[in-house]
Amino acid sequence: MANRILNALRKISADNRARVLEVNLRIGEINEPRNVKLWLKKLGGEEFRSTKFNIAPVQIEISCACGYTGKISSVPNTHSSEPELEIACPKCGKRGVRLNSGRELEIADVKLQELKCRAQ
Ligand SMILES: [Zn+2]
Repeated sequence: MANRILNALRKISADNRARVLEVNLRIGEINEPRNVKLWLKKLGGEEFRSTKFNIAPVQIEISCACGYTGKISSVPNTHSSEPELEIACPKCGKRGVRLNSGRELEIADVKLQELKCRAQ
């Protein structure tokens, strides 16, 4: 997941011939925003050392067949391969709810610094 973001940033950086200074991300809670940040730092390594990652977590909201729409009582076990299936409706207790939000993995905004074209 973090790699997907880093690849997108590399592309933005290459397309604009600029360095990524700061990134605003919207990460759904199902993607563990805190871990995403750690991975971005880890996998980004030297290349993204000077990049600031701002992460806005997006809360999970569901719709259930019973008519309930809204937040869930606790964040599901996100280590499962399909954490969505772990989410139970707080009203009727059934699983297999629909996620309205909480799955986001979006680059909301990027601040770039143009690279000087002249050779050093
Ligand atoms: Zn329900």
